[in-house]
Amino acid sequence: QVQDDKESMFLVLKWAAQWYEDQLKTAEGKAIGYSYFKERGFTDKTIQDFSLGYNPDEWSALTDAALKAGYKLEYLDKTGLSIVKEAQDGGTERKFDRFKGRVMFPIKSMSGRVLGFGGRLLKNDKKAAKYLNSPQSEVYDKSKILYGIYESKQAIAKEDLCYLVEGYTDVIQLHQAGVKNVVSSSGTALTTQQIRLIQRLTPNITVLYDGDAAGMRAAVRGTDLILEAGMNVRVCTFPEGEDPDSFAKSHTENEIKEFLKGNAVDFIRFKANLLKEEAAGDPIKRSAMARDIVKSIAKIPDAISREIYVRESADILGLGEQTLFSALAQVRNAEI
Ligand code: ATP
Ligand code: MN
Ligand code: MN
Ligand code: MN
Repeated sequence: QVQDDKESMFLVLKWAAQWYEDQLKTAEGKAIGYSYFKERGFTDKTIQDFSLGYNPDEWSALTDAALKAGYKLEYLDKTGLSIVKEAQDGGTERKFDRFKGRVMFPIKSMSGRVLGFGGRLLKNDKKAAKYLNSPQSEVYDKSKILYGIYESKQAIAKEDLCYLVEGYTDVIQLHQAGVKNVVSSSGTALTTQQIRLIQRLTPNITVLYDGDAAGMRAAVRGTDLILEAGMNVRVCTFPEGEDPDSFAKSHTENEIKEFLKGNAVDFIRFKANLLKEEAAGDPIKRSAMARDIVKSIAKIPDAISREIYVRESADILGLGEQTLFSALAQVRNAEI
């Protein structure tokens, strides 16, 4: 029964993705959805490669079309494509499109099945969420998916490196610029299960988060989990106010590749740079930062890597290696 349910959900999700794509060709879809993507600089090929689409700005356009095509309301509800309000006081049941008036980004599994959607408002409206995602369901578990994994898996394996970005448009714009080994955690905090997906393809991750305070915090949080998984993690920060999307849009393929190569630093240097900025001349903050770095190193499963990182951080922090080794031993003993 559960398996049948999941299959029915996959079927309606697949159908909906195609329907959203088709809407880009209607008069409304062309004027609104398609031109939105064009304004962002996406080519027709990109729109096709990522199966982008549009949900008309009507109460139940998708829901009505799906029912007419023979899909059951139960599965429109379970996949979150529709919102169903039960009948009250003799009234009738009401059903709406969840993604009314949004441009649609289908989220696919490693093997290319549509699991859910991200939908973006056309205007930055303070009242509504800029992005809306499919709700958690039997087939859509946001902690286990990475946006772009299907489109990028070959390039990730071939380059033996995965770039990790924050958003849908970062993945798409980098792809279009020729950097095709990229996935996104889509605004949710990175999870171990997401890291395992990447680990099937490569042991190397470079985190490319937005050049703002939120991006910086997310980058720091992400690196520890990646280290714990025994992977190699580097961080590349963008100029203040830029994200990979805006950067890729305003630079050539070569400039982007040079920037990524030239600015990616291993996590120790990344943390040490933060230390220099945040804790300059403040001994209490400096020692807190040193302990923080040691804590990160303690998460690395491989002893040789740990030792290399301890030596490197001792050098950067201007502390004795022995001091750091004993701090490391303390942290590891406390955690075992
Ligand atoms: P855009 O370039 O389209 O404005 P972005 O990807 O740069 O979007 P950010 O504000 O940097 O958007 O957020 C990064 C990611 O976080 C988004 O791609 C999206 O997955 C998620 N996100 C952002 N805002 C929201 C929101 N209001 N609700 C849910 N998820 C969101
Ligand atoms: Mn941001
Ligand atoms: Mn962004
Ligand atoms: Mn952006």
